Amino acid sequence: MVKGMDAMGVGQPDLSGNAIPRVTKLTVVPQPPRRRELTLLSNVEIVPSIHVLTFALPAGDTLEFLPGQYVTFYLRRNEKPVTRSYSIFSSATRQDGFSLLIKKVPKGFGSNYLCGLDPLRKPSLTALAPLGRFVLHEPEDRTVILVATGVGLAPFIPMLEQLRTAHPGTPVWLFYGNRYAEDTVGRPELEFLECVWPNFHFVAVISRPPSDGSWSGAVGHVEEHVQSRFPDLSSSDVYLCGVNRMVNQMQDLAIGLRCPKDHVFTDRWGDHAE
Ligand SMILES: Cc1cc2nc3c(=O)[nH]c(=O)nc-3n(C[C@H](O)[C@H](O)[C@H](O)COP(=O)(O)OP(=O)(O)OC[C@H]3O[C@@H](n4cnc5c(N)ncnc54)[C@H](O)[C@@H]3O)c2cc1C
Repeated sequence: MVKGMDAMGVGQPDLSGNAIPRVTKLTVVPQPPRRRELTLLSNVEIVPSIHVLTFALPAGDTLEFLPGQYVTFYLRRNEKPVTRSYSIFSSATRQDGFSLLIKKVPKGFGSNYLCGLDPLRKPSLTALAPLGRFVLHEPEDRTVILVATGVGLAPFIPMLEQLRTAHPGTPVWLFYGNRYAEDTVGRPELEFLECVWPNFHFVAVISRPPSDGSWSGAVGHVEEHVQSRFPDLSSSDVYLCGVNRMVNQMQDLAIGLRCPKDHVFTDRWGDHAE
């Protein structure tokens, strides 16, 4: 397992090779948001420019969130307060802290500040959590299709764990797009999950494959791969997370492929988190 990827918490086998069972239902009510004091425990650059930051809550405090929810940090820039939001990347069964998957945006203030923090100095931060309505809905008998680009993968990791535990019989597809092969965070772990969860299907897509032929996944953009596998989305729930461009295009495409509007769920992050 890649260093830092244990935060993903999905498909981790016990010694018998079985995934560790976890109890999660889609109907759990999250805690109302409130301010949290956090201590940074670790900061690992898992691929170039993408970090996993793990935070601990003070002893006795707990964070109960729904997979897909996020935290908002209160930061200071030139003495002025600013906020930055990040989806929770770690298991919802862990309540004494959480991990985030953060991409350093060129010249971006918040992402570089957070990814530059040194856990040895035990920095403390303040955040509001849990926040957000981008959460799973009961799939009934529908197929669940998750589409992410870049660090838009983050909310889908705890969602996958929840789906696997609460709805192991539901077909779940994850389409995960990046520019380069090396940006594809967690590919071995997600391929492993595909092996131990027969209803889970993982499609890694890159738009700029290496010329040496070493990439064995799909090439192009996630939109075309969703469409070629699902020409009719009328019986699917579609969840989209990432940059505006992909989310907007995929949303139009999903509706064009007959997915009812109220079965397309989106989380847009702007244009720079790809
Ligand atoms: C609900 C939600 C969840 C999110 N989850 C995640 C997540 O899990 N992981 C993740 O990595 N991101 C996530 N994001 C995105 C994140 O909140 C930040 O937007 C992202 O980290 C960039 O913030 P920044 O402060 O680094 O960049 P900013 O300082 O906001 O800069 C953004 C862009 O603007 C440019 N810019 C800044 N200032 C100027 C200027 N004066 N002139 C010209 N250009 C300028 C920068 O070069 C950069 O390209 C999420 C966003 C939302 C809303």
